[in-house]
Amino acid sequence: MNEFDLIHDYFTWSIKDSSVELGVGDDAALFSLEQGYQLVTTTDTLTEGVHFSSSTSAKNIAHKSLAVNLSDIAAMGAKPKYFTLAIALPKIDQSWLKEFSDSLRQLSIHYKVSLIGGDTTKGPLNITVTMIGVVESSKALKRSGARPGDSVYVSGVIGEAGFCLWKLSNGLIPNNHELNRLNSPTPRVELGLELKNLASACIDVSDGLEQDLSHILKASSVGAVIEVQKIPISGALKVHIKDTNDWSIPLCGGDDYELCFTIPEGNKDALIQISESCNVDITKIGVVSKSLGLQIEGFDDPRKSYQHF
Ligand code: ADP
Ligand code: MG
Repeated sequence: MNEFDLIHDYFTWSIKDSSVELGVGDDAALFSLEQGYQLVTTTDTLTEGVHFSSSTSAKNIAHKSLAVNLSDIAAMGAKPKYFTLAIALPKIDQSWLKEFSDSLRQLSIHYKVSLIGGDTTKGPLNITVTMIGVVESSKALKRSGARPGDSVYVSGVIGEAGFCLWKLSNGLIPNNHELNRLNSPTPRVELGLELKNLASACIDVSDGLEQDLSHILKASSVGAVIEVQKIPISGALKVHIKDTNDWSIPLCGGDDYELCFTIPEGNKDALIQISESCNVDITKIGVVSKSLGLQIEGFDDPRKSYQHF
């Protein structure tokens, strides 16, 4: 099997989308942009040993490589549309490729995103997805819009991926739900689209709540006070925290891919509706303040959130 057969067999499928004139197969992809929209683009690389281990399945690697990019587009309040895949493979392993391709295709169909191109090379396993989305002009959710008095919210449950990782690195066996939260995250695409009309700022929690919320605060030149007791966590993590008196996992654990966002006053009812229509819990964990910095009530000694260097 050569490179071109590989691309044809595993990375060529189409989603019905009339805005794509040329996808995989030409020198570059060609697609049209509707008037009144802006393009939103993001890229994330997954590397063995950093983002997944050598025992992670092809299915999970594919899912995660697409999901983390979908999550960034969601955090911008945009609609994901197209993506490219640059993949380095140590060798051609057809069963691995089939599992990877099936998983990638399934998730791409679910979110109606078209794989429009990429690059295939030989090398240590490395996957880079670049996602392109669209948003009505000047409607994108930035990090910089939080204002004093806004409420700080998070979606879903925080710390489950981090707790799973903690269990794995301490010789404990996570349950299936926890493993899924780490290996097969759900990007909050629908929620991001709804929040576009409501939130003043938004970020996805990929590196840890404390660090990611701090990015919003810095970009907005504000501070915030949050209460650890209000962070939505699983029952099992509650027990762990009770035993250890350590809130580091929900504060600094990464990989949750929930959204953290700020909402101006007077939007409670709208938020309840959004939570129902998107089928995800939304929890207020604090308030934006004028005085700079993140104040965490109930725990004063977090470890550090994830940083590569
Ligand atoms: P070129 O040499 O002109 O860069 P390539 O041989 O790299 O072209 O790729 C041929 C076509 O296949 C292009 O349309 C490219 O975007 C697409 N392609 C290559 N690798 C992938 C991949 N992993 N996933 C999707 N499309 C790919
Ligand atoms: Mg090329």
